[in-house]
Amino acid sequence: MKKTKAIAILLIINIICLIMFSLNLNKVFAASQKIDNQISKIDEKKYPGIKNMIERLQKDHKNWKFKVLYTGLDWNTVIKEEAKHGRNLIGANQKNYSGNWLCKECEDNKKRYSGGNWVCVSTDAVEYMMDPRNSLYYEDVFQFLELSYDKSSTYDANIIKSILKNSFLDDGNLDKYITTIINRSKEKNVNPYYIAGKIIQEQGIKGGSTFKMKYIENDKITYYYNIFNINATGGTTSAIVSNALDWAKDKEWDTIEKCLIGGVDFIANGYITIGQDTMYFEKFDVIADTYYTHQYAQDVMYAQNQGEKLRRILEGINATEHAYTFVIPLYENMPRTACERPTSIRMNSNSANDSDNNSTNNNTNNNTENNTNGNASVNNNSMEVSYNLGDANNDGKINSGDLLLVKQYLLKVKKITDEKSLNAMDINKDKKINSGDLLLIKKHLLGTYKITK
Ligand SMILES: [Zn+2]
Repeated sequence: MKKTKAIAILLIINIICLIMFSLNLNKVFAASQKIDNQISKIDEKKYPGIKNMIERLQKDHKNWKFKVLYTGLDWNTVIKEEAKHGRNLIGANQKNYSGNWLCKECEDNKKRYSGGNWVCVSTDAVEYMMDPRNSLYYEDVFQFLELSYDKSSTYDANIIKSILKNSFLDDGNLDKYITTIINRSKEKNVNPYYIAGKIIQEQGIKGGSTFKMKYIENDKITYYYNIFNINATGGTTSAIVSNALDWAKDKEWDTIEKCLIGGVDFIANGYITIGQDTMYFEKFDVIADTYYTHQYAQDVMYAQNQGEKLRRILEGINATEHAYTFVIPLYENMPRTACERPTSIRMNSNSANDSDNNSTNNNTNNNTENNTNGNASVNNNSMEVSYNLGDANNDGKINSGDLLLVKQYLLKVKKITDEKSLNAMDINKDKKINSGDLLLIKKHLLGTYKITK
């Protein structure tokens, strides 16, 4: 009897120790993550390139504020976790995202994800998309927009109005909706500009199929609203609408107001209040406690695409230069330079790339040809698109304009994702664009070296 009692007590002590230990562990992890707004104090040796890129953005956009999150996470561990099969996907059969963008193992096994339309991406792709230095440009920075409510900022109802004007919410009650959005956002610690932008992102200006859904029971018609497309998933449009309707019905969102309130709560509770308060963090869960497992979407492009959509909405209403705050993640042991963009064909030997992102010349029936002379071309039946080594800006000449472009690219002043340009810039064909290529263009212009195909 005594013995069992003693064992029981020991067990209880053990359990208490275990609980305390795990609490402690969480605390240690959480404490190692630190938000800081002192950009000038970022250690260039530990986080190479970041400070310069942020300061350049600050210089060009005086109202913007920046913070960094010291994640305390080792870069290689992060990439290993995020590159697990199926964690990051990309739409199948996209020409621009093929080759080295894709996970070789899953490709070889013909493995598809998420209903068959998605494929697993490579470690290179994860690295490229996660490395903040590849997105610290005006074009891509909105994925870092702070989505929580900044108590030191004032949110202007007119900006929200300009975002939602002429939209499906502009039905005579827009001012009322805006008040609801602002009040609930403040209560729930969400950036109301983000909420307004997200409504347009999800529904478009006119309102999509889940904005208002009809439900009939015993001849009684009820309309339900699911403006944020919550639970709107499925393989077909009818499945998507039916799932979205189930959600809205369950929550009794039978007025727009109720849906707005519930939607703000959902967005706040799911991600923002637990620290995943940028689109980047919604996608790449490097936030303490959940680490890697709590992601809003599997699409590796999610943060970039959503950020770009929001930027375009803000551009459309001249609202990009307000006092926005951006939060940039910092990792330990990052590579010295930004991770490179994967090539869209598999690079094993000396093969060159096809041209992509070339909207003016891309037709259907593209066949990729790899020529051994380093000059790749795409057959469009009727026309041929090719790049010329050294002609970085694709204007048919090699001159100071190309030299400048390569320089800007290397200094990270300019982001170039056009494969045709990238191919043209790799003069010595070593699969890297660096000072060696810059030197060859310089020499070419000086006449001491000739760039040939
Ligand atoms: Zn895979």
